[in-house]
Amino acid sequence: MSARRATELRNLLNQYSYEYHVLDEPSVSDAVYDGLMRELRALETEDPSLVTPDSPTQRVGNEPLGKFTKVTHSRPMISLNDVFDRAEVEAWVERMDKLLPGARHEFFCDIKKDGLACALIYQDGVLVQAVTRGDGRVGEDVTMNVRTIQNVPLRLRGSAKYGDFLQGRTEVRGEIVMYKKDFEALNSARTAAALPPFKNPRNLAAGTIRQLDPKLVADRPLRFVGYDLLRDDPTEVPTNMDAYRALSELGVYRSPEASVFTKLDDVMRFVNDWDKKRHDLPYNTDGLVVKVNDRAQYDALGSVGKNPRGAIAYKYAAEQATTVVRDIVISIGRTGAATPVAVFDPVSVAGTTVQHASLHNADEIARKDIRVGDTVVIFKAGDIIPQVESVVVELRPKNSKPFDYEHELAAQYPELEFERQGDDVVYRVKGATGPLLLKKAVEHFASKGALDIDTLGEKNVVALVDAGLVHDLADIYTITKEQLLELDRFADISAAKLVDAIARVKTPPLERFVYGLGIRHVGTQTAIDLVNHFGSLGALQHATIDQLEAVDGVGVVVAESVAAWFADEDSEQLLDKFEALGVRPHFEKKTGKLNGQSFVVTGSLESMDRDEAAEKIRNLGGTFQSTVAKDTTYLVAGGKVGASKLKKAEAYGTKIIDEAAFLHILAS
Ligand code: NAD
Repeated sequence: MSARRATELRNLLNQYSYEYHVLDEPSVSDAVYDGLMRELRALETEDPSLVTPDSPTQRVGNEPLGKFTKVTHSRPMISLNDVFDRAEVEAWVERMDKLLPGARHEFFCDIKKDGLACALIYQDGVLVQAVTRGDGRVGEDVTMNVRTIQNVPLRLRGSAKYGDFLQGRTEVRGEIVMYKKDFEALNSARTAAALPPFKNPRNLAAGTIRQLDPKLVADRPLRFVGYDLLRDDPTEVPTNMDAYRALSELGVYRSPEASVFTKLDDVMRFVNDWDKKRHDLPYNTDGLVVKVNDRAQYDALGSVGKNPRGAIAYKYAAEQATTVVRDIVISIGRTGAATPVAVFDPVSVAGTTVQHASLHNADEIARKDIRVGDTVVIFKAGDIIPQVESVVVELRPKNSKPFDYEHELAAQYPELEFERQGDDVVYRVKGATGPLLLKKAVEHFASKGALDIDTLGEKNVVALVDAGLVHDLADIYTITKEQLLELDRFADISAAKLVDAIARVKTPPLERFVYGLGIRHVGTQTAIDLVNHFGSLGALQHATIDQLEAVDGVGVVVAESVAAWFADEDSEQLLDKFEALGVRPHFEKKTGKLNGQSFVVTGSLESMDRDEAAEKIRNLGGTFQSTVAKDTTYLVAGGKVGASKLKKAEAYGTKIIDEAAFLHILAS
């Protein structure tokens, strides 16, 4: 399975890489490329036998096009390992410490420009050759074109301190970029001339440098930003900061932002500062570069595959990511509207982990042809709500079938009938069952196990819904005595009683409120388990499926159902409405002598039923569990204990007690 996936990823990434590096015409964003690359790297790390020599993880760039003379680099032009957070930076430092114990920590940090790498070769201070990175080992001779770049010195400036660098061979490496403002000006001119605009500054810069006509290159404003200086004798440039100082002295532009830090905290401060400020830089960036400053140390660390051990590229949180759709769950809103929600492998987008996204309606699924098993591109709309942007069709499983919405509605809700009327994109519960659903929902919300509003029974609910006073659960909090008095069912006293009763449940216990919402598969027990685990509505609302599944007694079906309910925009609006109406469910962790102890009851007890036992345990601050887990303190055996339960209890060291012992614990 993973071998097939690795092959598919490899082929697709190689195609993307060719489009990007050779044709300068990428068909996907860098975030999509990076997301799939990350998945491939993870598969290869887990099973190194999957690594092939042509894997994009093993290569830098791509083969040169062949339009220009090929030139072998004096030293390979490398690629960098990506990291995405502090933990990964720490892991990088730890790895280096293991290889070079006690080595001095000096981190050289610079902005990573998003352009194309180029090596400028100076002989006795005079520019003699410019070579692209190519595949890292062999690049292309683009000297004629690079000569047209205004800020590339054709002769290095004299410098007292670095005078030696005007003798012999000096190689300056850097990035050729197009400034954002120049790119925009070029594109406005093109649009005015009814020409199609260029895609982005990076690919335009790369495409321009590999034009055969230097005059055309001269018309496109490119700039060179140096980031490295090589001499035949490496001891002439002991640190990266020395290289930067030399570049400035010799008249090569390099980023003034580059800094050296000895502490990881300072590196992270640099990272975080530039996360905010990077959009103000004149060129596009794709992160930061962090290197070991001491070059002897850097060389000693060597490299793994195509990546040096002594440097990393810190990538900022991408607004896009790729993941695989595990399931499409349909949630039914209070008014009977069906909303599909995609459930996928957890993935980080714009800094937060997401695991589900609303797919809005059947048309949206059909238009994007989203299927279970598909690799999809996720993005965050308005930086908050995750959305599925598109499907990576090339990675679709062979046996996949289009999502059959009507079939799924029937399978997930066999008890309901659905229809869509006219141009409505939404499937809704059919005809009279719509209001019926609402009535049932309100009744459930007011029922004993939920908010326990005894004056809001079936007949009153029907009257309120039929009178158009209640369109959703939150509406009950808006009802006034005057409105009720207009209905036949209410007189002065009964109207006042109902309004009072509703007012009294404005701060309901959270577990009752959650149960009352009527989330599919969430009964009283599950509501209690969820609430005890998450402690607040907000935490429950934003929980990922993995976090939900970690709750004792919650399996994948319940977890998906809860996640789907909270991902439904109808639910979100409902919760906002409760909030606006001043409804504040509260959570109170019960404290008592059974705090920290958990119980599983098996078989039937003589003195009480299981629900009563659960309530007694909870009232004393204990936890009632449905199955024996590592943290179960007691297994209460009402009748005979099943062999599997017994085995589990023994394995976990759970105490097995009979009913009498249980009663003793409760009473003592
Ligand atoms: P990399 O991330 O491995 O980094 C190495 C490069 O960083 C160097 O060659 C150099 O050009 C550059 N760089 C910029 N500023 C620097 C500085 N201050 N110091 C040192 N180096 C600096 O880069 P890569 O190997 O070019 O490749 C991967 C990039 O290309 C990724 O961002 C990837 O998303 C993109 N890519 C995209 C597609 C696509 O289809 N969209 C395909 C292939 C690659």
